[in-house]
Amino acid sequence: MAFEGLTERLQSALSGLRRKGKVSESDLRDTMREIRMALLEADVNFGVVKDFVRDVREKAAGEKVLEGLNPAQQIVKIVNDELTKMMGEQDVPLNQSPKIPTVIMMVGLQGAGKTTTAGKLALKLKNEKNARPLMIAADIYRPAAIDQLETLGQQIDVPVFSMGTDADPREIVRQGLIRANEIKADYVFIDAAGRLQIDEALMQELADIKDIAEPNEILLVVDAMTGQNATETAEGFNNRLGITGVVLTKLDGDTRGGAALSIRAVTQKPIKFVGQGEKMTDLDTFYPDRMASRILG
Ligand code: GDP
Repeated sequence: MAFEGLTERLQSALSGLRRKGKVSESDLRDTMREIRMALLEADVNFGVVKDFVRDVREKAAGEKVLEGLNPAQQIVKIVNDELTKMMGEQDVPLNQSPKIPTVIMMVGLQGAGKTTTAGKLALKLKNEKNARPLMIAADIYRPAAIDQLETLGQQIDVPVFSMGTDADPREIVRQGLIRANEIKADYVFIDAAGRLQIDEALMQELADIKDIAEPNEILLVVDAMTGQNATETAEGFNNRLGITGVVLTKLDGDTRGGAALSIRAVTQKPIKFVGQGEKMTDLDTFYPDRMASRILG
């Protein structure tokens, strides 16, 4: 499970405090130093850690925690609250178009889990809202991507629009949207191309698709295992495309996960879903408070 190392380190830092009845300034300083190290080692972005530690200290001082009853317990609560704040405070639902279809564009690096997540989300909407989604296969560069989306579509009984690998992705999207209107699809997923690294040609193509499709939602899919690069990738996509939300995938893996948790603080865009396995049902709404509790153990 993700965050095991972080959970262990945080628990050990906080249990030191819990054993003390009274907590001194220097106890708090030591604890915060340990928490800072734990977050950095879990790959949380440096700037995000700095702000986090400052906010916890300020809150503890402001509320005169050290002079009050049960200082350790109150500090744990402050850490929990600040961790929740770092991840966005509240769950944020999918954007909806006032008239159908709601268009959702999936972007991210190759292998992050875009295609899989499009299928998972389509199935979730089908199951929970009785929705009629359509998925558009617009990744022509990875030939297997189209087959993969078609297989997924069959598996979850969701139609897939594709024009093979010879058509221009912009044209595929145009035609796909026409099809969506014909069949009165209420959600359209655009499975756009990814690359191993961000490059200008990819970004231009995605920007063009954005102009054509005017998506209600641009979901950046991020592999939680990517480490420090995750925040840079997120900034790159966000600066160029203006993402509207993030999906963290592979949180079921053995990952330090902290970089992914920094994305919210760095981009100011909400994490909306988390992928926790390879099955089509392994997608959950992201709740910052529950994730904070899970991390604190
Ligand atoms: P894309 O290139 O971004 O479209 O990535 P894919 O959707 O093809 O996913 C790449 C690999 O990651 C596939 O083997 C997926 O099964 C796997 N994957 C995607 N999401 C998750 C997840 O939440 N957990 C796990 N364990 N594997 C995932």
